[in-house]
Formats: sequence, C-alpha cells, structure tokens
Amino acid sequence: MARLRLSLWLWIVAALMALGLSAPASAEHREGAVVTSRCHASSDVDRTVEAMIAPRAWNCTGAGWKADAPVAWLRFDAGNWHEGAVPKHFFTRTARHQTITIYALDTDGALRGLSFSESDGRAFAAGPVFRLPLPAITPSTEAVLVRIERPHSIPLLTEAGLAVYPEDASRSLEEMMLLALVLGMLVLPLLFDVSFYLVLRERFVVFHAVMVVAMMGYVLFAGGVIAVIASLPVAFLAIMAPLCWAIGCGSALLFLSEFLERGALSRAMRRFTFWAGCWTIVVPGFFAFQFHATQAFDDTGYFLTITPAAIIVSVALVHAILRGSRSAKFVAAAWFPLILTSIERLGRGVGLYAGPASLDLMMFVATGIEVVLISLAIADRFLAIRNERDAALTEARMLEQISTRDSLTGLMNRRAIEARFDELLVQGFDTFALVDLDRFKAINDLHGHQIGDAALIACANAIRAVGDRDSIAVRLGGEEFVVLLRGEHSLERAEALRQAIPIRIAQDVPGLELPVTASMGVIAMSHASRHAMQFAEFYARADALMYEAKASGRNRLAYERLTVFSEPPVGRGRRRESKAA
Ligand code: GH3
Ligand code: MG
Ligand code: MG
Repeated sequence: MARLRLSLWLWIVAALMALGLSAPASAEHREGAVVTSRCHASSDVDRTVEAMIAPRAWNCTGAGWKADAPVAWLRFDAGNWHEGAVPKHFFTRTARHQTITIYALDTDGALRGLSFSESDGRAFAAGPVFRLPLPAITPSTEAVLVRIERPHSIPLLTEAGLAVYPEDASRSLEEMMLLALVLGMLVLPLLFDVSFYLVLRERFVVFHAVMVVAMMGYVLFAGGVIAVIASLPVAFLAIMAPLCWAIGCGSALLFLSEFLERGALSRAMRRFTFWAGCWTIVVPGFFAFQFHATQAFDDTGYFLTITPAAIIVSVALVHAILRGSRSAKFVAAAWFPLILTSIERLGRGVGLYAGPASLDLMMFVATGIEVVLISLAIADRFLAIRNERDAALTEARMLEQISTRDSLTGLMNRRAIEARFDELLVQGFDTFALVDLDRFKAINDLHGHQIGDAALIACANAIRAVGDRDSIAVRLGGEEFVVLLRGEHSLERAEALRQAIPIRIAQDVPGLELPVTASMGVIAMSHASRHAMQFAEFYARADALMYEAKASGRNRLAYERLTVFSEPPVGRGRRRESKAA
C-alpha cells in the first residue's frame, strides 16, 4: 500500500515537472518580441561602461552567473532582435538591487544611457517581474548594455530580457489560472485550521495556519499574483517572496515538532526540529531582507541557511516512520513533491543551471498539494486525538462508576450518598429509611456466603427504584441498606418496600426454609430545609429506631417524624413524634 502510494506520487511529480517544462515560458509568447540571449560580466563599482565595450570583458557561455560582485553587467546584441520588433522595455525577475543603468551602444560608438533606482521598477501585471524603459534604440544600435549595481539574486541576471510590449514578459493566462487555483486550494485548509483549533486547542494547528498563510504569501509575491491586485514597490515584492518562504519552511518544522504522535520523535529529535524551525524563520528570514550591506553573501546565505530545513524534515520523517508513526507517513506524502521541487528551485537559485521561470509553477502546485494533504493528516490526527480523549473519558466514567457503586448489588454506595446528601435534601428527599435484614448471619451460616450474597442482591432488587425518580436505594455495607424517599406517603411507600423484601428473596433464592425479613428505622422530616441535618445524624437516629424495631421483635418498622425549622423558634427546635409498628 505504502509502495503504491509512493509510486503514485512519483508519477504526479513527474507530471508536474513535465507541466513546468512544457508550460510556455513567458519569454516565448510572441515570435521575436522578447530578447533573452545575452552575455554577462561582473565588475567593481568603478569600472566604466567604456571599459566594458571590449569583447573580452564578457562571458557569453551561458554559465558562470554570480550575484555577489558589486556590479553585474548584461549585454544584449542587436543581432538577436528582429527588424520591425525593436525592444522598448528591459524586464527581469523581481529582486533587490541598488541601481540599474541601461545603455544603447551604436555602431559608431555613441552611448545613450538611462539610470534607474530600485523604486523606479514597475511590477508587471501578473508575474514576478518588473520592467524599465530602454533608451532610444535606433537602426544603428549594436547592443544594449545593462549595469546592475548590488544585484541580490542570480535570477535577476539569468531571467533578464528585452521586450517590445510589456505584456510579453507577463505570465500566460493558464499560468495565472493555475496560481489562482493554488491560492484557492490554500483557503480551505485555513478554514479547517480555525475549526480544528476551536476543538483541539493544539499548538500544531497554529503552526500549520502560519505555514498556510506564509505559503499564500509566497504564491502571491513569488508568483506575482499580487501585481494583479496592487502595484507595489519592487523592493517590497523582492523581500516578501523569500521571507514568506522562510516563514513557511520554519513553521513547517515547528509544526512537525509538535504534530506527530507522542513518541514518534525522540526527545532530542523533537527539540532539534523545533529549534531548526526557529532558525529557519530567523536566519534565512534575515537574509530575505537583502540589505545592501549583506549583498556580497545574502543570496548564498539565504540558500545555505534554508537548505538544512529540507534535510532536517527528511531525517525527522524517516526517523518517525521507522518508529511506526502513522502521521509521519501522511506528512511525508504531502511534503515529497515540495521537497523535490524545492531542490530544483534551489539548483536554479544558486545558479547550478538556468531554466525557465515557468518551472516555479511546479513548486506552487506542490505547495497546494502539500497543504491539502497536511490538512487531511490533521483531520486524521484530529480523529485519533478525539478517540484517545473519548477512551480516557470512558475510563474516567468507569472509575467514577466503580467508586460510587457497590460492586455486589450495583446500588449506590455509602461514599456516593454522603457526597450527594445535602443536594438530595434540597431536592426534597426528606425520608430516610434504614433497612437491616433480620438474622442474616444465620443465612450465611446455614447456606453459605454465596446464598447470602444472592439474598443481598434480591433485597437490593426489591428496594431498587427502577423508573422511580422519588426514591433512591443505597447499600451502606453488609446487610444494611438505606432508601431515601420524597413525595407523598413516603412512610407507607417505605413500609411497602420493606414488605417486598422477603417476597423477592424467596422468589430469587429458592430453598431457604424461613423467609428473610427486614427491619426498618425511618426518619421522616415534615419540612426539609437546606443543611437541616447531616447524613451522620440521620444515620444515628435511624439506627436508634432500628434498635427499637429489632428489640420489639424484628420484621417491623419504627419511625420518627421530625419538624425542622430553618430558624428554630426559641425553646423548641424539633418536635418528635415516634411510633413503632
Ligand atoms: P439482626 O437481625 O440482629 O440484624 O441479625 P443479623 O444476623 O443480621 O446481624 P449481624 O449484623 O450480626 O450480622 C450481619 C451478617 O451479615 C454478618 C455477615 O455474615 C453478613 N454479611 C455482611 N456482609 C455480607 C456480604 O457481603 N455477603 C454475605 N453473604 N454476608 C454478609
Ligand atoms: Mg441484620
Ligand atoms: Mg446488620
């Protein structure tokens, strides 16, 4: 099953790769409308454009791109654009830089230059690209030379081009639809997270929500979708894309450190994953700002400090799967396409090879897949956690049951009735009937404890109030019971229960020669007020009446009727009326 799922994923990733490669690169929309082939060079700040005109100053092999020199140069030769399709715009991937100066070099050596600061760049509608106008290009223009001071990323150089119309550098409609779809895919998990959090209150749900929001930011800023909605400065766009990615990767690690089942990660691994998450947000997050002071190393710094995240995630997942984690398998399936496409993006980012920007689409689709699968994983975990909680709750209820019930008869035990006694008085249970079986020791002695137990169960069944909400039967211990009653004729109802005992015992325990009768001591309060008497006081009084009943021949009821005043009148607290029947 796991192998089948893995091969399915391999197919999906291969399909994504093919999609990315076959998606029309933005630079190929219109035949001849975009010029991308160029030579490049790097220099210090002082090198003049005149010094750059010499052919040997340039690298035209398509390799050796560097974004760490103070100045990068690009050259587009006139032979590359078609007659009648003279370029008017310079465009490139959104990234931080200080200035861009564009020169048109004529065959006679004349140079026309235009200089732009970072804030002059205009983001394209749809696409992580910005554009600048070219100086006048004439029929005698031989080349366009571009000087980029403080370039912060390699795609800023490798993805540069000249275009006749601005829209030639935009993404295709299909690409934009795909990005919109991914964004749509991300909204749902966010809603899931909110509802999961309301129920679970687990931190991993928050980390996941942060991750989803960061991924949405990444699609908006790195995918260039934001340009459809708002016209934002190049620097802002250039910072937000890698920053969102760093926050996304970091919160993915934080999520992993808390999401998996207990014991899926060893303590050390869990801690390590957590701190790696913090590191990934802070360190690559810092490089994402691309301060000019860090220009020489921030591009490399970003990629070098964010790469460990992918490695740590992979190691942690393998570690958890080997320890039998089910959630880790879900997460691995979700992250597999993303890890592969990130590695591809990394290769392009550090200049290992140059590929069309449309390859990024694979990563966006992988992001969508990731978030949806992780939401399923959370749902799965959610059910598991709920089941765990339900089991714990059932156990707690069982324990509570055990501690409040008498194990032989199933009646409430003394501990339970004492705990609830005040409440029951308030609820109107004003009659306390103590029951004791007569000469019960003899039953045990004659027939054995087993028969004795059966008689006790039969007695409990005789006094148990099935469906009667106005009486509660309790086994105090031994062959001693209490029935609490409320409502009309409670004394008569107590007497009826007492008389039912020998009948029920005879019925349920055949073979006893003599009937097993019971004596009762009943306290009836004509007015029960809150906290009028304690359980122990009722018990002591009922026991005294029981003694009277036993002494006057057993198999009878002795009762006492008490009138209790909330505020006892002077000289007379309780009126006693006693009778033995
Ligand atoms: P009296 O009429 O005076 O109440 O006589 P009695 O024999 O019932 O009095 P006593 O309280 O001396 O005896 C109670 C007996 O109940 C003692 C014991 O053998 C029996 N007993 C107490 N608990 C249990 C129980 O859980 N199972 C069984 N089979 N017998 C029990
Ligand atoms: Mg007894
Ligand atoms: Mg007894």
